[in-house]
Amino acid sequence: MNCPVCRQETIVLRKDGAERRRECTACHHRFVTVEVPKDEQLRQQEAVQTVIEAAEKLKAAA
Ligand SMILES: [Zn+2]
Repeated sequence: MNCPVCRQETIVLRKDGAERRRECTACHHRFVTVEVPKDEQLRQQEAVQTVIEAAEKLKAAA
């Protein structure tokens, strides 16, 4: 994960659940990232796909 300000390397200061508090090694900008596990990302994509399909079925039925 690189700094959103200067694109340099960052370090993790603290882990709090899925949150990572990070600090840039170059400009000392601090920010928080949230880690999303890969299988969780897949589940979300599938959920979105299901909603899209349901909406299209409704449209076709109307
Ligand atoms: Zn920076």
